[in-house]
Amino acid sequence: KKGPLEREHPRIISIANQKGGVGKTTTAINLATALAAVKQRVLLIDLDPQGNASTGLGLDQASRRRDSYQVIIGDIALSEAIQKTAIPGLDIIPAGVDLSAAEIELVDVERREYCLRNAIGDGAAHYDYILIDCPPALGLLTLNALVASQAILVPLQCEFFALEGISHLMRTVAQVQKIFNHGLELQGIVLTMFDKRNNLSEQVAADVREYFGDKVYETVIPRNVRVSEAPSYGRPVLMYDMACAGSQAYLHLAGEILRREGHKAV
Ligand code: ADP
Ligand code: MG
Repeated sequence: KKGPLEREHPRIISIANQKGGVGKTTTAINLATALAAVKQRVLLIDLDPQGNASTGLGLDQASRRRDSYQVIIGDIALSEAIQKTAIPGLDIIPAGVDLSAAEIELVDVERREYCLRNAIGDGAAHYDYILIDCPPALGLLTLNALVASQAILVPLQCEFFALEGISHLMRTVAQVQKIFNHGLELQGIVLTMFDKRNNLSEQVAADVREYFGDKVYETVIPRNVRVSEAPSYGRPVLMYDMACAGSQAYLHLAGEILRREGHKAV
């Protein structure tokens, strides 16, 4: 029998923001690692044709022959594309070079918004979390991710135009809720690359908190050079420098997410 805190099905969370360079992939890799570190079973789906999450977790090109592209267009089953990473408890479906073609190929597919949702189906029931790293656009790939998800987690870089982009994103989420996926909710907003010496960072953070209230996580991810170094070693920052401020922040974020979902032990 499952305990009250154990799920029958994974919680599926898209990590999305149409802006590039805001920390989506960094958050996907390191949140996934931090969740796995506290015994959650996690699957990361790399849905960005750039494949940064796959590279950042140390997957070479040869191990990306079965990828999220084949899954989304229905060539192979989800389970056939799942690979283990060096991190216990963390599996990945990598992105290959073909994925950028999916955006175009899907246009002609019937119910094209539901391809990923159908592909996931019941094939991942043994995971606690599925995190989807989205590309920096609101095209068909991100739409597929949002339709397949229960929630969207938005990394937000503390800079001047941050709020402008996010209102567009929230309108898209509202549309997806209305048309494709009534259950989609805002998991939360995480402030990234926060620079405490910069007044603008403080000001943007204050504005975002005023607007989104407690949907904004208390945990703030600081700008930290160790975080940006780790991917070039094919490792999450938690496996590269566990003590650094970036690692600690991602551990805190995982704890905050689990607590909000009622995991009392964390
Ligand atoms: P996205 O996936 O939204 O395009 P990334 O996660 O790839 O964004 O981050 C963009 C760049 O910023 C990358 O080079 C990454 O290493 C760097 N970066 C992300 N988060 C941090 C951080 N907290 N501190 C320092 N650099 C960061
Ligand atoms: Mg990315």
